[in-house]
Amino acid sequence: PSFLSDRINAMQESQTIAMAKKARELMAQGIDVINLSFGEPDFETPQYIREAAKVAMDQGFTKYTPVPGYLDLRQAIADKLRRENQLDYRPENIVVSTGAKQALANAVMSLINPGDEVIVFAPYWVSYEEMVKLAEGRTVTLMGALENDYKVTAAELEAAITPRTRLIMYSSPCNPTGSVFSRQELTDIAAVVARNPQVHVLADEIYEYINFVGEHVSLAQFAAIKDQVITVNGFSKGYAMTGWRVGYLAARKEIAAACEKMQSQITSGTCSVAQRAALAALQGGRTSADEMVAAYRRRRDLVLEQVQAIPGFKTPTPSGAFYIFPDVSAYFGQTTPGGEVIGNAGDLALFMLNEAHVAAVDGAAFGAPNCIRFSTAAADDKLREAFGRIKASLEKLG
Ligand code: PLP
Repeated sequence: PSFLSDRINAMQESQTIAMAKKARELMAQGIDVINLSFGEPDFETPQYIREAAKVAMDQGFTKYTPVPGYLDLRQAIADKLRRENQLDYRPENIVVSTGAKQALANAVMSLINPGDEVIVFAPYWVSYEEMVKLAEGRTVTLMGALENDYKVTAAELEAAITPRTRLIMYSSPCNPTGSVFSRQELTDIAAVVARNPQVHVLADEIYEYINFVGEHVSLAQFAAIKDQVITVNGFSKGYAMTGWRVGYLAARKEIAAACEKMQSQITSGTCSVAQRAALAALQGGRTSADEMVAAYRRRRDLVLEQVQAIPGFKTPTPSGAFYIFPDVSAYFGQTTPGGEVIGNAGDLALFMLNEAHVAAVDGAAFGAPNCIRFSTAAADDKLREAFGRIKASLEKLG
């Protein structure tokens, strides 16, 4: 509608949320839909974290919090970054936000002027592009090759940088592809960044713990570019805490202060009780995460085998996160029993929802219109059932 701002009219609704909405509509009609559209752990938040939240409420953690987060939480985050990521930060370098999502948005808003170019490695997480749009920046998507597990190379990055480039955004482990940058790949990317001092990098490490190859490398470890890197992480994925809304970034002082200023005007500090829970999560270490990762790895293997058995689905092996992102373009141009032509991945996702009752997300939302994203964060038998149904439904196309 015209009474809404150009800004909001230009913005897309999150497609992952849109697909989940359609799935819920079918479920409300009593249809047994297997929902693989969500980017959410199917585990409950570990017990010790929930207990800490209950205690916090009774201890009176019910007031406004400091805008960048409680000092002891920021100190615990600094300790975590030193211990696990070899990064040297102080609490003043850290801003705790309402999810990693707000941390990313704060950084984009703090760094981007109208017309600035932001290089986004594709396939990318849905919200990056819309955040850049909000800041009136220009997104330059850089698509990794399927043959390289969809990872953008340093040479491809270097060729895309212009004098207007201000920011680079990527996630590793990657949502939606599950790819993980190796130390060597990041060494090469760091060298490109070092040659372009006007450029900052938002390294989204929210899936850090969900990694099947072992080594997680933080880009900020490369000393020559540390001040150019903003590291984003949080509690949603590794600790199964999506609903608590706690994430953070670590950056040079000036950037952290800018993000704090931004946050002070739009949301203030994130929820008091959730911050106490996040502190307990960190104090508990990685044990609970490691247990969940064992399940994610088992499901990755199970789903990979099933996806590879579906004719026409092409996928790299996910190294982390909890998604599989097959290229499904072999089905474009085929016809449904009802006579409709599958024109793109969105059509195929809708066909699978209606025919197989499995909800997934059109890859176009991630800048990869040949693909469909399936979450693998579901029970093993549900996953087996889902891909069995999908295989059967695709046999009806011709
Ligand atoms: N970054 C990526 C790559 C994600 O997949 C997500 C959640 O789906 C987020 C950030 C946001 O996480 P949070 O729940 O901490 O806002």
